[in-house]
Amino acid sequence: MKILKLILTALLFVNGLNLNAQTEDYPANYAKGPRFKALLCYEPTAEEAHVQFDKQAIQFFHKLTYGEGYLLDVTTNLGDYRDSLQNYSIIIMCNYGIADKKTREAFQTYMENGGGWMGFHASAFRANEAEWPWMTEFLGCGSFLCNQWPPQSALVRVETSEHPVTRTLPEQYVAPASEYYQWTTSPRQDKDVEILVSISPKMYPFGIKDVVKSGDFPIVWTNKRYRMIYLNMGHGDESFMEATQNLLYTNAFRWVVSCDPKGNPFEK
Ligand code: ZN
Repeated sequence: MKILKLILTALLFVNGLNLNAQTEDYPANYAKGPRFKALLCYEPTAEEAHVQFDKQAIQFFHKLTYGEGYLLDVTTNLGDYRDSLQNYSIIIMCNYGIADKKTREAFQTYMENGGGWMGFHASAFRANEAEWPWMTEFLGCGSFLCNQWPPQSALVRVETSEHPVTRTLPEQYVAPASEYYQWTTSPRQDKDVEILVSISPKMYPFGIKDVVKSGDFPIVWTNKRYRMIYLNMGHGDESFMEATQNLLYTNAFRWVVSCDPKGNPFEK
């Protein structure tokens, strides 16, 4: 009986080795469990069109977890995660702003220590830059200047094909209806910012009720001082209706996560 057990154990061991040898050269790398953790935050009492976007974003990112690719936690209060932010490879900040000082400090510490951030729409909204100067430096743009209204589709220009986020995108596409912001200082003025997507100048005059007539209009960018990307889309229930834009969202998410200083989880 003992000998039989030994033989069985040996067989299992050899099998295990064979399995490893087979998978080593295989083109896919299958994770043994979730590769990383993501934290999504949103504000359920925000204006209705923002909550509409946020709820669809939750669905979108939840679908990306299928097959246990990663763990997605969703919160309406980032303060609850103040002491555990470092466990997350990325914070997806939908239409959410951090109001309290302690959570702001925790977020700053997280970002300054290699944390990942993907922010949408109102997450960058500030009426006054002085109210949280670090956030202004982090985003690389001034406070809110103006918007077009109502939300509408827009021809957008992909400004570079060199970046991993835009490598697979066409030079331009029609983005589904959203509200877009211009800033008191364009992020293009910041030498560490790389603009990835902007509203095409062909859109001017842009808007029906509120009309933006001119100006630099970047809508997706990254500040290279941090592992971050900001996307100005995020208003209403149409944002996830367009394949190109969904590809942009997935690329942006994947890129932020893959740059984790603790190691690229997709290579695990
Ligand atoms: Zn909005």
